[in-house]
Amino acid sequence: MGFMEAVMTGLAPDGGLLIPESVPSIAGRIDDFKDLSFVNLAKQVLPFYIADISSEKISQLVDSAYSSFDYPEIVSLVPVDDVHILELFHGPTLAFKDIALQLLGRVFEYILNDRKGYLNLLAATSGDTGSAAIAGVKGLSNIDIFVMYPKGRISKLQELQMTTVTEPNVHCLAVEGSFDDCQNIMKNLFGDLDFKEQYHLGAVNSVNWARVLAQVVYYGFASLQGQNKAPRSFVIPTGNFGNIFAGFLAKQMGFPIDKLIISTNENDILARFFNTGQYSRGAVHFTSSPAMDIQVPSNFERFLYYSMDGDTKRLRAFIGEFMQSGMAIMDDYQSKDILATSIEDRETFSTINRIYAKNGYIADPHTAVGLAAAEQFKMIGNKICLATAHPSKFPEVVDKAIGRKTATHKRLIGLENLKSRTVTIKAKERVVADYIRKFGHQ
Ligand SMILES: *Cc1c(COP(=O)(O)O)cnc(C)c1O
Repeated sequence: MGFMEAVMTGLAPDGGLLIPESVPSIAGRIDDFKDLSFVNLAKQVLPFYIADISSEKISQLVDSAYSSFDYPEIVSLVPVDDVHILELFHGPTLAFKDIALQLLGRVFEYILNDRKGYLNLLAATSGDTGSAAIAGVKGLSNIDIFVMYPKGRISKLQELQMTTVTEPNVHCLAVEGSFDDCQNIMKNLFGDLDFKEQYHLGAVNSVNWARVLAQVVYYGFASLQGQNKAPRSFVIPTGNFGNIFAGFLAKQMGFPIDKLIISTNENDILARFFNTGQYSRGAVHFTSSPAMDIQVPSNFERFLYYSMDGDTKRLRAFIGEFMQSGMAIMDDYQSKDILATSIEDRETFSTINRIYAKNGYIADPHTAVGLAAAEQFKMIGNKICLATAHPSKFPEVVDKAIGRKTATHKRLIGLENLKSRTVTIKAKERVVADYIRKFGHQ
């Protein structure tokens, strides 16, 4: 499958996830890459994986995607204590998801113009994916986007970031159910291959390969900054395993990366796996880092493929067993690349408080989950913690942790005064399918 087809397909027809046929090597290119800006590095790295769009066109798409950011360097490395914080939240919706979704929107547009086609994008969001995906495609003439979110379970600001968008190709669906219900509906509709084909269904969740690919760039970029030649380790607040999987690829490509440290909140399935080899589902905990309230990380099987040396039979059996019984075991599992821990919610609060008191730095709750993990892995030097959201997106938590009103951002001020548009629906596949039939592009 070529890159363009992979982007359009989203989930593979058999329900699996797509990975590159081989991981390209940047061996011998580090000296060329190390002085490049983030944007120029993206123009170099993406063509390694994209054979069916010209480098010139890729450059144009990259320029266009990142012109929407508030910060000219796009990402920034801020020294705080003994770590560097890699701020990835300077895009239109103030979460790291903008980095991939601003680009993905442009890629969809380019492919559709080329083919004179259209797409109905269907997304499930626990908060940040929805607004970032909407910001990536609003107003495009050959795309409609349908975003399902659990009614009453996302923050007010996150909801307003979606529902105050006025472009008519944006459809917000408040589902009477949980995030899991939304994700289930999505999975089932993608599994209905006739429906998927007839309504040209497309995916913007991180199952879409282009999301992961776009994220490889900032790992490469951050790993090459600074005078110190020692490889960098990354601490990654983790939910669906999309972000860290991009880091894993960057390391495989040859960027100077040492360890990748997973930090989960109380939804600790990954922390348990990397420490015991046991992959077992638990009940969802609702925490102050809601974008990571995930029990079954959708990208994990991409990583397992590599840890099982490409043994797809074994992988299929492992995932099959997990789906059936809620548990699968890899005996004696030990990763040389990945370390993992989980952080309790009260530690997230105390970390926000501690980092602010000591350094004056305001971390969002997801970033704080990472910073708390960095504290646990003191013995690993040269750490970069990913900051995945701007603190102003989570004022309830951040202000409470710090003890006064702190975080605001101009992109969020006044949202509550705008007209808000959403439709409440039952958590039923049929209802969502009918909605797409009625209001989707065709
Ligand atoms: C989506 C999200 C995460 C989790 O990223 P994954 O790729 O799902 O592991 C962490 N923090 C924030 C703020 C997010 O929006």
